Amino acid sequence: MKIYLLESEDWEKSVISREKVKALIEKYANEAEELLDNPSAELNIIVKPSLPHISSTKGVGGSTYDAELIDITFDPLLPFGTKKFKKYLKEAIFHEMNHALYMKFNPREDRQLYWTILEGLGIVFDTKYADGEHFTQGRATEEDKLAWFYKFNSNSVSHWDTPNDGMMYDTGAWLVMRAEKNSGKNVVELTKLSCDEILRLSNTK
Ligand SMILES: [Zn+2]
Repeated sequence: MKIYLLESEDWEKSVISREKVKALIEKYANEAEELLDNPSAELNIIVKPSLPHISSTKGVGGSTYDAELIDITFDPLLPFGTKKFKKYLKEAIFHEMNHALYMKFNPREDRQLYWTILEGLGIVFDTKYADGEHFTQGRATEEDKLAWFYKFNSNSVSHWDTPNDGMMYDTGAWLVMRAEKNSGKNVVELTKLSCDEILRLSNTK
């Protein structure tokens, strides 16, 4: 695993030093790597402040491109303070590294359920191991989630449009927790299975 801090004028604005950001990312990524048991040895984490996908409620953002590439970004003004920054940074790294492991076994697909399961695994993992916070969690009923499962299954809604994105996380986590319960496998073991196998274990169809 390698961590690259990309050049940016925004490091000047940052209330936390580059060195500190790198040390924190290294620490959290090593912790996640140990839990995830064998993510790609060629994982690259690129870091640049102020990218557009920073969460407005967390001040941190991340995305995963494939098994070998993650980006991490943050608001250099740390609008929620240093303590929350560390918490949300850890959550983001755990979340994205779970995605990278899933993508190692499940190369990118277009269908909605691929992304629903990907996000479900990511939030079940970060909630369990990095105290992750997800705003929609617990709001939707079982019927809601089943209805959304059918919508995602039929590819009739776009999962990245609000409020569908929130429901995708909730529905995904619900499917993953069902699969955990039915199979006795933990979230890390499930992350290494195919999307279809996880759906089969969720016993929802
Ligand atoms: Zn995600």
